[in-house]
Amino acid sequence: MSRKKTILLILFSFELAVIIPLAIALIPHETRRHYISVNARKYGYSPSRIIVDKGDTIVLNFSTLDVTHGFSLDGYPIKLMARKGVMFQKHALQDDAGHDMNDWSRVSTVKFVAYKSGKFTFRCTEICGNLHPFMTGELIVKPNTPYHFFISLSVWLVFSMFVLFGRDVPPRFADFKHRNVLDILPWLKTIVKLRSFQFLIILPNFIVFYLFILSSLWGSPVGNRNIAIVFVWILWWFVLKAVIVPLGGRIWCLMCPLPAPAEWLSRRSLAAVRYVREPFKKLHHRFSGLQRDWPVKIRNIWLQNILFLILISFGMILITRPIATALLFLVILGATLLLSLIYRHRVFCLYLCPVGGFLGTYSMASMTEVRAIDRDVCKKHKDKSCFIGCPEGWACPWNQYVGNMNRNNYCGLCTECIKSCPKDNVGIFLRPFGSDKILKGYDEMFNAIIMLVVAIAFSITMLGPWGFIKDAANVTETKQIIPFLIYLAAI
Ligand code: SF4
Ligand code: SF4
Ligand code: SF4
Repeated sequence: MSRKKTILLILFSFELAVIIPLAIALIPHETRRHYISVNARKYGYSPSRIIVDKGDTIVLNFSTLDVTHGFSLDGYPIKLMARKGVMFQKHALQDDAGHDMNDWSRVSTVKFVAYKSGKFTFRCTEICGNLHPFMTGELIVKPNTPYHFFISLSVWLVFSMFVLFGRDVPPRFADFKHRNVLDILPWLKTIVKLRSFQFLIILPNFIVFYLFILSSLWGSPVGNRNIAIVFVWILWWFVLKAVIVPLGGRIWCLMCPLPAPAEWLSRRSLAAVRYVREPFKKLHHRFSGLQRDWPVKIRNIWLQNILFLILISFGMILITRPIATALLFLVILGATLLLSLIYRHRVFCLYLCPVGGFLGTYSMASMTEVRAIDRDVCKKHKDKSCFIGCPEGWACPWNQYVGNMNRNNYCGLCTECIKSCPKDNVGIFLRPFGSDKILKGYDEMFNAIIMLVVAIAFSITMLGPWGFIKDAANVTETKQIIPFLIYLAAI
């Protein structure tokens, strides 16, 4: 298609995407009055969805079936509280001096007109238990014009991208030059080559991690009041997925405190290299413990997939109970220590870490990679010091050979090969997003599917208005095994 036709098609489809929701919004309807009784109980509302037409009048009664609950409606000035048998409404006032203040009055109903169309969440404002932050419901005022706009413009955007980019790869992407960050920033290369680099980067995280374990064990038992939960499962989790992996791939694994004590123990060193001239089991190091190799049959990420599925099955409990987070960290710490006494390399990270599994797959999309600068140099270099170790650096802890590495999945970005390469032939390269395209094996494919399922399942469970799904996931409080098993089966 010519450029002119392409632009015309995109403009025409944009007009359609705008006109259709507008036309739906202009369909006339008669206004009505709705008498609605909303019952609240841990951790949902009944009904959890209220659907009315724009201009309708709502006469609302709010009550609780167990503890005190709140009802705050986004987009409308409606704030209620219900105790057993009584309902209160909050009023915003100003005193004589002009200061804002609040007052509560006892009411039997509140009446308001649904004058704004769209979807509005109502949520509990009284801390009522572990899942309090997820206690929500929805008021849908039809026609839901913002939603219709969102859908039609999304369809238009995808359609336009197909039309625009489906023609040819723009030459500027095809010619993208990989740039070595260590050449652009020579001071970074000096820092990365320091033997103490990894230790210094891990140490602050290790201290924070230790404090979080203390906070999880002895801090507030309410999830959204405990710093460990707020930091780990809200802030860190978001930053990891939205910023760290897209920009730096597995760079988190460089600074992760979880496997560090095990690595220090097995090396019997915090930073220095313990080199042995005669190779032992093909490596120039002797580690503590049995120094076995991980069984060949399970050198894949199936175990990580299974552990990740187990983790997300108990995700609701994990992110709302600080004690569960502490236990998870301590179990991982114990597992890494135990495994380091049996196996060489970072077998926990490579084959067991539930987070590591998805970090590997997701890092294929990142804009950073560690690679050999010139593969021919690697072919001619007989010693392969990056792989088997040398006096300047440990053998790759992730058991990767950088000389033929062409994907990010199993490189923990530990920067050890930058130190151990005597030819100065390893770089950290910038590249276009999503440069690794090939998934190798059903284990990786399944991992990608799990990541999609998690996004959908957690959105429905935590952000959706369906209290019965929250009840099913919240098995340690509800003690209802059958709904929990159905929830697991659904995931
Ligand atoms: S794989 Fe897991 S435990 Fe290992 S470094 Fe990465 S996040 Fe930490
Ligand atoms: S030590 Fe350097 S040159 Fe040798 S194989 Fe490894 S990356 Fe290539
Ligand atoms: S390839 Fe290099 S950066 Fe990647 S894990 Fe191995 S030693 Fe570390």
